[in-house]
Amino acid sequence: MLESMTSPSHAAGRDQESELAHAVPREAADGPPPWVAACGTPVAVVQGSWAGRRGLGSAHPCPECARLAQA
Ligand SMILES: [Zn+2]
Repeated sequence: MLESMTSPSHAAGRDQESELAHAVPREAADGPPPWVAACGTPVAVVQGSWAGRRGLGSAHPCPECARLAQA
């Protein structure tokens, strides 16, 4: 992955049914579950920053979230 500019306003979320890491808008991540990623996928877990190794730095960042979270 490119070390591109990423918004600090997203948290890293993970869908339990896949290995994809998703970007969850910070406002949503700070609220109660269920959490929904930028691409519309519900995520079971929110852990750390999207810019970190559990987000874009993970093995399988969601390509849709990667695109949306940069906007
Ligand atoms: Zn996603």
